[in-house]
Amino acid sequence: MFDQLRAFHRPATVATALRLLASERRAGGRGAFVAGGTDLVVQGDRSLRYLVDLTRLPLRYVKRRGGGWAVGATSTMADLEHHAGLRAFASGIVSEAAGTAGSPQIRNMGTIGGNLANASPACDLAPPLLALDASVVVAGRARRTVPLDRFFKGVRRTALDGGLLVEIVIPAPPRAAGRAAWSFQKLGRLQSDIAVVNAATGVVVGRDGRCTWARIALGAVAATPLRARRAEAVLVGRAFDAAAIAAAAERAAQETRPVSDVRASADYRREMSRVLVARALTECLERMGRDR
Ligand SMILES: Cc1cc2nc3c(=O)[nH]c(=O)nc-3n(C[C@H](O)[C@H](O)[C@H](O)COP(=O)(O)OP(=O)(O)OC[C@H]3O[C@@H](n4cnc5c(N)ncnc54)[C@H](O)[C@@H]3O)c2cc1C
Repeated sequence: MFDQLRAFHRPATVATALRLLASERRAGGRGAFVAGGTDLVVQGDRSLRYLVDLTRLPLRYVKRRGGGWAVGATSTMADLEHHAGLRAFASGIVSEAAGTAGSPQIRNMGTIGGNLANASPACDLAPPLLALDASVVVAGRARRTVPLDRFFKGVRRTALDGGLLVEIVIPAPPRAAGRAAWSFQKLGRLQSDIAVVNAATGVVVGRDGRCTWARIALGAVAATPLRARRAEAVLVGRAFDAAAIAAAAERAAQETRPVSDVRASADYRREMSRVLVARALTECLERMGRDR
């Protein structure tokens, strides 16, 4: 696919990467950023005339920030999968999701920035990051921070607007007077497959057993990864038990807008949304019991 390329740039700074992209744009022709290339190469877009490689930028890091994390955009799936701090954070859902993305070879190449910027509705990092209220930092004409729930605009469309995704910010989880737990679930035909449905949940329960905070996020069931806000509202204020879980899972399935494709029918996806949300919330409940 790269036989039509006339330039392949390997900048060492974000400013140079943006400058190169701007000057190439002025010269005409279509180009793109490339990190691991695991989405870009498969897409095989022969209209591309130049690429700006991001892997030499100083964006491969996972750092503690406040009670949360700052993750550089070129950190690989394998970096996240094996990071001891992330594995111990929010029931380890970010590491767990990263660890389900493709094969070890794909995880060694594919990056968190590429996963989000590619904006596949099924990308595995979106649900856990949505459940953690993450934001992305975009460098472009100005540097801006975009909450992840406003980042995805449609299938392969984002709020990047030609900018460079430089960092993912995961804030400190809500302070729990009682107990808190998270869960990630993924349904695919094989372990290395793209999700038919994926889901992440986070729940905080007060000392009285009532839910005070809830997040439910789903992927592969609409044009963009989504937060099931009405299902979250079903949980908040009531006892976090099997009945609440069943009601929230049912509501979450109603919030999906799936399509039928080679992987699954829309009806199957909607039903599996209910099943995966119920499983995720049940795992949260079990984890709360275990971590008492
Ligand atoms: C066999 C196979 C299995 C896979 N399995 C899974 C899976 O199970 N789950 C899953 O979620 N994904 C899966 N993927 C998809 C892919 O591996 C991931 O989405 C990966 O994280 C993409 O990252 P990358 O660095 O390779 O992106 P690239 O291919 O380099 O880039 C993808 C897109 O994002 C843009 N881009 C990249 N980085 C930035 C940035 N920092 N700022 C702005 N734009 C940027 C590029 O221009 C391009 O349009 C699979 C892919 C393959 C080939």
